[in-house]
Amino acid sequence: MINLDYASTTKPSKEVINQIAIALDEDYLNIGAKYKQAKAIEKKISIIRQGFLSFLGASNGEIIFCPSATAANNLAFSVINPKSKGKILVGAGEHSSVYETAKHLSNMGATVEFIPLGANGKIDLNAFENKLDSGVSFVSVMLVSNETGAINNLKQISKIVHSINPKAIVHTDAVQAFGKIDFSVDDIGVDMLTISAHKISGPKGIGALYSKNIDALRPIIYGGGQEYNLVSGTENFAYISGFYTAAKLKVNSLASDYLKVMNYRKHFLDSLDNANVEYEINGELDNSSPYILNISFKGVRGEVLLHALAEYDILVANGSACSSKKRGNRTLESMGKNKEQIDGAVRISFCANEEYNFAYIAGIFKKIIDEIRV
Ligand code: PLP
Repeated sequence: MINLDYASTTKPSKEVINQIAIALDEDYLNIGAKYKQAKAIEKKISIIRQGFLSFLGASNGEIIFCPSATAANNLAFSVINPKSKGKILVGAGEHSSVYETAKHLSNMGATVEFIPLGANGKIDLNAFENKLDSGVSFVSVMLVSNETGAINNLKQISKIVHSINPKAIVHTDAVQAFGKIDFSVDDIGVDMLTISAHKISGPKGIGALYSKNIDALRPIIYGGGQEYNLVSGTENFAYISGFYTAAKLKVNSLASDYLKVMNYRKHFLDSLDNANVEYEINGELDNSSPYILNISFKGVRGEVLLHALAEYDILVANGSACSSKKRGNRTLESMGKNKEQIDGAVRISFCANEEYNFAYIAGIFKKIIDEIRV
């Protein structure tokens, strides 16, 4: 199998699988129990929380483990009281776990406005500044787009928002950024940030929200009061420790993986050129994550291409897997792409742990595109 769909998910590494197996075997006790043996596992979790703060470059704040990044994004939005007057600004190209939560709050009466994207896939900063006033209370803009790889300038965004209202909360969904591009919470100045394990060779079903100040958060799951009384449910130590192992490995290899994947992206595009495949890049290569590339092929439907490539055991995506049940593509639409460009788009995403034969892959693209082009 040739996997070019790693933005959708990754394979857990051997180290992660081993760590999860050890934790399931040795540390299976309920952390909520009163005996010291359970407290020892709780201690391990608090060391892991400190570890994540350090990976994220956060000098203060808390890590709240959640059953997914989707849950973490929902938790971030729990600070919003839909009856209060504050203005909420959300990027138009956000992942559905942010976008749909924002829409739900809007239906509940909150004042929500979506910030359009520029042709480069980042939020349009002029449009953003025009929407900003001192009434802004919450802003959510993703660090790296899961559709195009575009990197938003969160440092600038946080600075502008906090200069207009120092109490406003800036949240970023960093699911496609963490372990892949270099950033630190202290530098970008966000108040909340979401990460997920299964995008970095960790297990599915675990994510986390970093929050500078957890007092404003409200429970999203009621019950026994675990995770600061915000996300009740017995702590999943095995996955928390698997997530930690994955994060440690990715943070250590971030710089070398980044260079490797930059090379992959270049070689992929060079190979398409050499094979005389016509394509158009949606977004821009500069200032974007090399892990994700969105391209359109003229006269070709992305979905047909996806299925034809799958016959050759080559995996690509069109639209993110999490929103594949929904038609259209909000991100590309907001970037001003026309229907043909959107229909013809596929998302290619790389993994540094994989070796690719790009000349072979480009040859298959050429063969299929010549067959299916209308
Ligand atoms: N945010 C982004 C940018 C994503 O790409 C994804 C997964 O596709 C998510 C959130 C959701 O992550 P999870 O599958 O852990 O809920």
